[in-house]
Formats: sequence, structure tokens, C-alpha cells
Amino acid sequence: MSEKVPTPGTQAVWAGEHRALGGDATQVPVIHSVSYGYGEVEQWKSVAVGEEAGHIYGRNSNPTVAVFEEKVRVLEGGKAATSASTGMAAISNSLFALLAPGKRVVSIKDTYGGTNRVFADYLPQYGVDIELCETDDHEQIEAELAKGCDVLYLETPTNPTLKVLDLARLAKAGHDAGAVVIVDNTVATPINQKPLELGADLVIHSATKFLGGHADALGGVVVGSEELVEKVYAYREINGATLHPMAAYLLLRGTKTLHLRIERQNQNAQAVAEHLLNQPRVTSVNYPGLSGHAGHEVAAKQMTGFGGMLSFGLEGDLDAVRKFIPAMRHAHAAANLGAVETIVAAPATSSHVECTEEERAALGIPEGLIRYSAGIEDIEDLIADLDQALKAV
Ligand SMILES: *Cc1c(COP(=O)(O)O)cnc(C)c1O
Repeated sequence: MSEKVPTPGTQAVWAGEHRALGGDATQVPVIHSVSYGYGEVEQWKSVAVGEEAGHIYGRNSNPTVAVFEEKVRVLEGGKAATSASTGMAAISNSLFALLAPGKRVVSIKDTYGGTNRVFADYLPQYGVDIELCETDDHEQIEAELAKGCDVLYLETPTNPTLKVLDLARLAKAGHDAGAVVIVDNTVATPINQKPLELGADLVIHSATKFLGGHADALGGVVVGSEELVEKVYAYREINGATLHPMAAYLLLRGTKTLHLRIERQNQNAQAVAEHLLNQPRVTSVNYPGLSGHAGHEVAAKQMTGFGGMLSFGLEGDLDAVRKFIPAMRHAHAAANLGAVETIVAAPATSSHVECTEEERAALGIPEGLIRYSAGIEDIEDLIADLDQALKAV
């Protein structure tokens, strides 16, 4: 009889944890040692050339970091995983490892701000051709793919306007063009969405956000086939953007409660979005869990939960934002998302501060937009807090 494959809640707790590390300790120890000593030169050599499992030097690999990589690998359902010091390091190392002069990337306008900078400012310096499509225009993306593509880079739901892309449809179009399909799954998390099952080749996370969940450690992960992950790892090893073992430990501990946090954050975000729909000072609500959202049907098809992040527009633009944000009591005003605490931010002053007002408008970001990352607090308090802050507007 085949053994039952554990479901995500069990995977979050147990994946990677069975490795024997540190005697009989039930918790993964933080191995700070930079190097590993070998009494036998032959064994040292076989570890160094990869014939035997083991660790040589901390920039390459580390036992604590390896457990974190394994946990996310299992949660995303990939064959291999590697990590990086931040989400941006995971993203840029993946892109630089897979691209070269003359190669072509097709992506969307609404990628994470840092990713957008890699596309706009850095890859073109190396002769990489970048085509950024209107985010929810699937036909335009498919038309650009048909012209030839080496990397299709996607993100869904997007930040901060929660646009939704049909991953199965676009992954197929990407593969027809011969592209490697990369998906940033930070906002959805593997509890709500499994891009590899939908056809993606590589899944990337800013583990800093929902995976870690406590806003106390930076990190990034890349999951996919052995061949692709090996390429990213080889580049990251030399580039040097290694995940620190202490950060790996904090992210590992956070990830153990991922399913519980996401379940609550999905519920809180849905309740907040529905509540805001009926508030007089709120001009729009973006959340894929709302039946009126443009991407609701696709989201319902490819996600098992609609996520912990939403955004909404305030009447009165930046003036309203200036009054609303300081009035919130149970929310950090910060450039972050995915933590146990609720977090609010105004894209006009944070993620998209470098755009002009016109550029923000073109991305569907009005000046009065608030990004709301639901925490795990009790919903009655979150709603009451929003109501009193809206009164201040
Ligand atoms: C935060 C974030 C990143 C970058 O992650 P860092 O850990 O801050 O480098 C990438 N993608 C998305 C969707 C993010 O929210």
C-alpha cells in the first residue's frame, strides 16, 4: 500500500524536520559554522564534487538553510529548491542565471517594484530584450510570447492592485514559445496557489513575507526542477547572496504555522473586503475573493484561498491617506506585507513612490489607494478599527 501524501498543514510542520541534526534535538539547530572539517581527504573530495552529501563552506550550503529549503520545496511540490538572502536576491539571481545577451523576457507591468527595476534598468544593460505587457491582457501576453521568448515572468495576484493572471493558460503559451516560466508566488503562498501544478517551471518567494510571517527575517526561495534550480544555485553561490542560517531558522519556525496563519488571513481579508464595499468613503475595493472582481473566476479556478492582501481607494486622495493611516490602531504603517500583524501602506508613498501620478494612474493605482495586508487578529477588532479610521477621513 502506498503511503498517504501529507496535506499542506502537515507538510508545513514536518517537511525537512526529520533530518538528523544535533543529536536528539527535536528542533533544527542553527549551525553558524562557516566551514566543515574533513579528516579524510577522499571524503572531502567526494563531497566537494557532489558525489556524497555534505557541506563544505557556508556560502554554498548550510544544514539549517537546507532544512528551510526542503520545507518550501515540499510545500510547493517541486523536485529541488535553493535559497537566497532576500526575495530580490532569489529573483535577480534566477533571472541573471537564465538570461544572456540576445535573450528575451516577456513579463507584466505590475511586477513587484524591485523586479520591475531589474527589467527596466539592469537586464537591458546586458542586451536582454524586455517586453512588459498590460498585466491582465492575456491576449497581449500571448501575442508577445508568439514572437519568441526565453523567460516568461509572472506574478499573481499582483501587488498592490490584486490583478489575477490565468497561470495554466499563460504557462502553456510560454512553453509553446520555448520559454522557462517563472512565477513569483509571494502574495498567494503555496497554501492558496501551487504554480508548479499549473505548469510553471520555477516558483519564487520572498520568504520575508507570508512564509516567515513575523517580519523579523529576510530571505528568498526558488523551487522547481533539479536542472533549473541547479543553474540558479550555481549563480547564487558565486554571486554570494546566501541566506543566513539564523534567518533560515526564523523563516523555518514561521513556516511551521503557515497554514494556520493563511487560513485566518484569507478569512480576515475576505471579511474586510466585503465590509469595505459598503463604506461611503471607500471608492473601490480590489480583492480576488469578491465576486465583482475582474479576476474572480480565474482566481476561484486556480487558488484554494484568495489570500491575505487587498487594496482599496479612499475618497479625497492623498489628503485622505494622510488622515486615515495615522488613525489606524491595530495596523503597522509600513512597507511590508504578510506578517501576523495587519499592515497598511499607501503605494503612492511606498511601493510606487518613484512613479509619477500619471504612471500610477495607468497602473490602476489612484493616489488614495491603501494596501491592506490582513494580520491574524480577531476580525471584530479589525473592522472596528477600519470604521473609526474611516471616520477620521
Ligand atoms: C517583498 C516582495 C519581493 C522582494 O522580497 P525581499 O525579501 O524584500 O527582497 C518580491 N516579490 C514580492 C511579490 C514581494 O512582495
